[in-house]
Formats: sequence, structure tokens, C-alpha cells
Amino acid sequence: MSLSFHAAQTPHFFTVDVEDYFQVGAFERLIPRSTWDSYACRVERNVDRLLELLGSAGATGTFFTLGWIADRYPQMVKRIARGGHEIASHGATHRRVNLLSPAEFREEIRSSKATLEDASGTVVSGYRAPNFSILPGYEWAFDVLLEEGYEYDSSRFPIQRPGYGSPNTPRYAHGITCSSGTLLELPMTTLDVMGAHIPAAGGAYLRHFPYSVVRSAFRARQNAGIPGVFYMHPWEIDPEQPRVAAPFVTRLRHYGGLKKMQPRIERMLGEFRFTSVADALPDIRRTAPLVHAA
Ligand SMILES: [Zn+2]
Repeated sequence: MSLSFHAAQTPHFFTVDVEDYFQVGAFERLIPRSTWDSYACRVERNVDRLLELLGSAGATGTFFTLGWIADRYPQMVKRIARGGHEIASHGATHRRVNLLSPAEFREEIRSSKATLEDASGTVVSGYRAPNFSILPGYEWAFDVLLEEGYEYDSSRFPIQRPGYGSPNTPRYAHGITCSSGTLLELPMTTLDVMGAHIPAAGGAYLRHFPYSVVRSAFRARQNAGIPGVFYMHPWEIDPEQPRVAAPFVTRLRHYGGLKKMQPRIERMLGEFRFTSVADALPDIRRTAPLVHAA
């Protein structure tokens, strides 16, 4: 059996940040949390469509779900879990970690874990911060995650952008040694070209960049036998979502490429094998190099 055949079997991680179109970070100044209940939710139909896409491809994924969503749609959370997918936490109310105190962060991850475990009947062991907001300098969050019973985090994007990204974090899965134990970290996938690291984990990058950028990143990982981390949001496969009156650049970022997204996701699912993080957690724990939280 050739190495390439073996490497071709490396499964990547399909991850979904389960939130609705009016809860995204880009709109947080325009849509106060107190008004969220006045918006018509579309998350359920979009998640159901996504479950169909994953099911047809024989893939599973990890659904980092907001506590706010799980409170209102517990049956949807149950359907995701029943489909063989992993339920993980995206926090309770989509507040950025770098704007929270440690006590506020603890409440976000504690309450969302309880809600998600009640709804799914499964144990929640993974967390992803809104807007990848466990930024350099906020490593205390890793300790809090361990203390609250989480085993892994997937909140770091090893790229450099203003107010976003952790450029010096390792680009592959690693264990972070904290005062209370070891937390596994699964950073977002980059395309590494001649020393530059291009964000290529999916999401807006799959909508705005040529498809070949994301595909190249996952092919490179596959050839190296290292799983990539792919991510998306349910609202990204919903071109009909109501439009928010946001500034031009924000609208370009949020609405650009929405029609391309579903076909591109189907293409990714056809070209690569995907599983949930939970399926590979023992392997990651066995093989991930250890680094100190810094
Ligand atoms: Zn989010």
C-alpha cells in the first residue's frame, strides 16, 4: 500500500459554528443582544440542510453551538447528535473572550455546556470562541476551560490580522500545558506558501477566495497525514437570509459568495473525508506535541 493511498485516508475535521445570521460578530454593534428574539430564526432549516449534505457524503462533524440557540432549539441539537455528530460549545451569548472577565467567561462556558448536554444527552468537551477571540494575552481562558471540564479548544487562527488571529500559535494540533492540566488546541487551517500563512479553513475564505486556495490547504494536510480543521456557519448556505443595513465592507464580507458556498461545501465533502473532532480525540491526545500556554 503506497504512502499516498494511506495519506488520502486522513480524515479532516468538519466544524460548524451554530449561530444565526443576526448574531455574527460583524453585526454586534448594529444588533443588540436584547433584540435577538425579535429576529426570525433561520438556523434550524440551514442546519437541517447541512445535516443532509453531511449525511449524503457519509461525513460527520463537530457543531460548536451557542447556548442561546440550544435554549430555543433543543430538538435541533438532539437531531444533530442523533445524526452521529458531536455537540460542542460556542459559548452562551456570542461574546468575545477578549472582552470578558475570567468570571464572565466561566459563566458563558458553564451555562452553555449544561444547556447543550441537557439537549443532546451527550458530554460536551470542545469549545470554540466567537471570532476566534482567545487572542494572545488571554491564555487564562485555557485554564478556565479545563476547570469547567472541557478537553479541547479550537479558537486559535494562526494568522496576523488587526484584532484577529494568533500568529505565533503552532499551526497544528497541540497540547497546551496549563496549571490545571493539558488542554488540546486545534487551530484553524492555513495554506502555507513560502513562509506566508493564508487563512484557508473555510468560512468567508471559502466564499471569497478561489476554491483552489482551501482545497490546496487541505490537500497539503492530507499529503502530510495531518488533519485540517474546516469551519463554516449555517447562515453561509442561506443566500435568501434577510439583509442587515450594515456598512458596505461589512455587507461585502457577510453576503459575498453566499450562493457559491453550498456547491463548494459539497465539493469539499466529495474530495475529502471528514469526521468530528470527538472521533479522533484519543489519537490527538496521543500524538499532539505539548507547548506551554503563552
Ligand atoms: Zn460565531
